[in-house]
Amino acid sequence: MRAGREPDAAKLVAVTKTVPAEVIWEAEDLGLRDFGESYIQEAQGKVQALKGLAGVRWHMLGHLQRNKARLAVELFDVIQSVDSVRLVEALERHAGDMGKVLGVYLQVNVSGEGQKSGIAPEGLGELVQAVRSAGHLQLEGLMTIPPYDDDPDASRVHFRALKALAERYCINGLSMGMSGDYEVAIEEGATLVRVGTAIFGERGTV
Ligand SMILES: *Cc1c(COP(=O)(O)O)cnc(C)c1O
Repeated sequence: MRAGREPDAAKLVAVTKTVPAEVIWEAEDLGLRDFGESYIQEAQGKVQALKGLAGVRWHMLGHLQRNKARLAVELFDVIQSVDSVRLVEALERHAGDMGKVLGVYLQVNVSGEGQKSGIAPEGLGELVQAVRSAGHLQLEGLMTIPPYDDDPDASRVHFRALKALAERYCINGLSMGMSGDYEVAIEEGATLVRVGTAIFGERGTV
C-alpha cells in the first residue's frame, strides 16, 4: 500500500451537513459511528432526532462562535474547530457545568490564507497549553483545511506542516483530508479523515 499504513489507521468521520437524519440513521446501520456537522443550527435537529443511537460521536467541524459554545457542548462530543483561548475557556466552563469531558481538535491555519478560520502556527503553543490545563477538555489532535485545489497533491505541503506542528507539541491526532484529498492525507499521517460527498454524493441545499 502506498502510504505504508494499515487501511484502518485513520478513523472516518462521515460529514453529514445537508444529509437528512433518515440517511444518517441508515449510515449508522451500515457501521458508521462518527458524524461531522458544520452548522450548529442544522446539527441541532439531527442530533436530537438521532439521540437513540448509542455509541455515536458527533463532531463539530465548522467555525464556532463563543455565544454558541454552550449549545455546542450540549450537542457534540468533539469540537474540531477550536481556534482561540477564549473559546477554550468558554467550552471548559460549559463542559464543567454539564459534567462532561469534551474532545477537542485545534484548528490550525497552516496555509496562512487570510479569510480562513484557525489559529496561526505562532499562536498554537499558548492554545495547546490552555487545553491541557482544562479539566473537562481532552486534546485529541490538530485539524486543518487546506486551500481548495483540484489537484489533491497540492494539499500535501499543508498536511506535512500540520504534522510537523503536532510533533513539536507531542500531539498524536491529525484530522486532515476530505473527499478530494483523503488519500494524500492518509499517506501523510492522518489519524482521522472527514469525508462528505465521497460517501453521500454532491450536496444540495438544506
Ligand atoms: C464539508 C466539510 C468536509 C467534507 O467535505 P467533502 O469535500 O464533502 O468531503 C470536511 N471538513 C470540513 C471542515 C467541512 O466543512
